[in-house]
Amino acid sequence: MQRLQDRVAVITGAASGIGLATARRFAEEGARVVVADLDETAGAKAADEVGGLFVRADVANEDDVVRMYATAFETYGSVDIAFNNAGISPPDDDSILETGIDAWRRVQEVNLTSVYLCCKHVIPYMRRQGRGSIVNTASFVAVMGSATSQISYTASKGGVLAMSRELGVQFAREGIRVNALCPGPVDTPLLRELFAKDPERAQRRLVHVPIGRFARAEEIAAAVAFLASDDASFITASEFLVDGGISGA
Ligand code: NAD
Repeated sequence: MQRLQDRVAVITGAASGIGLATARRFAEEGARVVVADLDETAGAKAADEVGGLFVRADVANEDDVVRMYATAFETYGSVDIAFNNAGISPPDDDSILETGIDAWRRVQEVNLTSVYLCCKHVIPYMRRQGRGSIVNTASFVAVMGSATSQISYTASKGGVLAMSRELGVQFAREGIRVNALCPGPVDTPLLRELFAKDPERAQRRLVHVPIGRFARAEEIAAAVAFLASDDASFITASEFLVDGGISGA
């Protein structure tokens, strides 16, 4: 028996990076995977690869989020795992004096409001089932700051962490676990794009990682699979750091 046998998992941002690696890992562990993403081409390809279902959804849009879970439920009969992972990096300089209100709002919408929407609309399914595991992607910056002046991004991830704690406590007795995943820097398209704009930043960041390298997306996916599974049955409302030691240094 595999650890996630027949569990139905909805993963947002599953067309790339951490989400894609997790879709693969969940499928290997026996889950039925719903790949949700804005990117139709990459999303459909990912769903095909993992034998799952693709749903095009903008996680900042409430109608899309409602439809995403309804489609998962209608297709597979339950929603057991929600990995609320889609996120963006701010487009330009994200320091407080440079970030404009539109950029700020977009980052909050995609990174934070999306997690509110996903939790709000998946919890009713999980309540009816009497069980569920929600993993929300925050970041190590939510715990200790970015050290690179990323105001909108850090604030959004701090919000994800705080919300996960609140919900983890609120729904603990209903069998619904809610955890905040806090990865350190992970080698994904999001990070590569950031470092392409400012190559020195990669070096500045790397010196703070005690393990001495960035994470592979598969290493984060392994932690998500653990949190999603019954192996983590006593873990809820946690900040789950997978950061190569950054927060301990
Ligand atoms: P990525 O860019 O490789 O993947 C993000 C995916 O989210 C893409 O497929 C994109 O199409 C999708 N997406 C973006 N906006 C969306 C929207 N509105 N609706 C639906 N899908 C949308 O990025 P990644 O590095 O895998 O990041 C995944 C998550 O991990 C993000 O929340 C990010 O903030 C977080 N994170 C990343 C790192 C890192 O170093 N890469 C570190 C800590 C936390």
